[in-house]
Formats: sequence, structure tokens, C-alpha cells
Amino acid sequence: MSSIDTFNTNTHGMDSSVVQSSVIKSLAHSMGFFACGIAKAAPVDEVIALKYRQWLKKGEEASMAYMANYLEKRLNPCLLVPGVRSIISLALNYAPAQQIPEGEYQIAAYALGQDYHDLMKRKMRELATKIAEQYQIPQNKEDEKPTIRCFCDTAPVLERYWAQKAGLGWVGRNHQLIIPHAGSMFFLGEIFLPFDTDNYDEPMPNRCGRCHRCIDACPTRAIIPDEDFHAERCLSYQLIENRGELSDEAKAAMGDTIYGCDRCQTACPWNRYATPNTEPTLQPKPELLSMSKEKWHNLTVEEYQRLFKGSAVKRVKFEGLKRNITVKKF
Ligand code: SF4
Ligand code: SF4
Repeated sequence: MSSIDTFNTNTHGMDSSVVQSSVIKSLAHSMGFFACGIAKAAPVDEVIALKYRQWLKKGEEASMAYMANYLEKRLNPCLLVPGVRSIISLALNYAPAQQIPEGEYQIAAYALGQDYHDLMKRKMRELATKIAEQYQIPQNKEDEKPTIRCFCDTAPVLERYWAQKAGLGWVGRNHQLIIPHAGSMFFLGEIFLPFDTDNYDEPMPNRCGRCHRCIDACPTRAIIPDEDFHAERCLSYQLIENRGELSDEAKAAMGDTIYGCDRCQTACPWNRYATPNTEPTLQPKPELLSMSKEKWHNLTVEEYQRLFKGSAVKRVKFEGLKRNITVKKF
């Protein structure tokens, strides 16, 4: 049965027809997304909302003030996008196919290739367009916001919460989304739909059990059992978000890392199942893989611009990366 047959021609008066979730998932998988799930749009569960409010109250977001912005919208997607009925969560694999050689300075796996935001946005827009075509939903009319909205770090959305709600995986003790038998190296994105689907996924229960490997692996005590995440202690925060001086703890704990940190992910047993990504734009440049410590210490602005053109590493800017490198004595 063609899905178009079951659907009206616009987003108004659609209550008698619903979109088939299997159609959306099959489109998502055909476009290279590893996982796709769908949750009904609703305010975030009270317990999670309270935890988030308390986390902010304690100032745990450190200098990431954006995490406190648009709080009510963050805790209720129906305020963020009035009319949203369903939230599609998508995961794209970034487990690296090539690594920087051991003993050289390291960069978090997600930032080895081109900036994932561009890739995710492009893929999600393509998927949104296919859904819109399939169900004859008007998109991008002049002076009108699109009726289907795509987000990847571009709006106040609790992405891991929605991914768990949509049955993709669970938020582990390392605060990453863990996909069973696949690991946590996934970019997440959301598509907000202005209509219901015929089936919603069940949230995935937490399967961390008694494991505490990520806690043991964290060199800065950013994750502590039964405590909130201490973002300010985390190396990812210190090496990327912190625009000031690195904390003494970070300097002592960073080892060979100069951008981000993967230790609580690589320690997670579920990442043993990770399969290397095959996305061309996520592959590291040969020049990056051949960087020696000596080259890093002599890095010029021009070389930095060439090496990281279109890369997420640009977030830290040349000065920030230099700050991280010069902590190391050479
Ligand atoms: S990213 Fe590194 S520093 Fe941050 S919580 Fe994980 S292991 Fe700890
Ligand atoms: S290392 Fe263990 S406790 Fe930590 S996220 Fe993975 S399964 Fe959960």
C-alpha cells in the first residue's frame, strides 16, 4: 500500500490518517543512518526535568551558559516547535576507521573528519524532504517556516533523552547514548514532525548494570556514581569549551589528548561492537594522521587553517589548540 494513499495533502485536518513509522525508518536506513526511532512529542518526564533544573542550579554547566538558555523550551519540545507531534531520533555512526598513531597527540574521534553538523544537517534535510514528498507535506513556502524541522545541536533539545525515549539506546553512566551491540560513537539528530505516526517506540531501559568501567577510566572524576555530571572537570569541557586557562586537574590528566576526550567511551564494553564508519567526509586527512609531536608544537596559523578547514576542531580556534598543545613539554 502506498503511504501517500493514506494521507491528506497538507498538515491541516490530518487526524484521520497517520504516517507509517516503518516507512520513515526504512528511508532513514537507506540513507545511511544506523538507527532511527520515533517518540511522541510531550514535555520531558518530570524526574528528568527536575534533575536538569537542579543541575543548572548548582552551576554545573560552568561557562556553557547556552545550556541554561530557553530552559522551558528545552524541557518541552511543544513550546520549542508549536504543533510538533512526533520526534524522530537519528544516529549516524562515527566510530573511526583510522586512528592517529599511538604515542602521538590525540583528537577525539568525532572530530577526526569534517564537521559532523554539515553532514547531519544535509542528511536530515534529505530525509525530511523524502518524508514530505512521500506524504505530500508542504515545505518551505515563502514567509513560512518549514512544517518539518531538523535539529543537530542547533536548538535546545535534550538529544540523548529523546534518543532513549525513541528506543535507540540508553544514557549510560558516562552520559553518552549507548546503542546495544553498537556502542556510543554516534552523532544524534532529531526531526520534528507536525503529525502522528502509526507506531511509537518504547524507551530503552538502562543496561549498564553493575558496570563502572567508564567511572574508573575518567581521569578527572567528572563522573562519580550517584552524582550529577561534573562538566567543569571533564577534559572535553576543559580542552574545548573553556576559553580561559586549563584547570590544574585537566593539565595533569590530559595525557596525549589535545582536543576532547574519548576515555569513558573507549572503556565502555559496548564499544567493542563498534564498526568503523564508511562515510567519506568523516575520514581524517592523511596530513592529520601524519602529525608528529614536533609538528604540533611548531604548528602555524596557516597550517592550522589547512589542517582543520571544515572541521569541528575550529571550535577551539588556533589559540585554544595552541594552549592545549603547549601544556605538553617537548
Ligand atoms: S570525556 Fe574524559 S574527562 Fe570527560 S567524563 Fe569522559 S573520561 Fe572523564
Ligand atoms: S562503561 Fe559500563 S557503566 Fe559506563 S556507560 Fe558503559 S556499560 Fe554503562
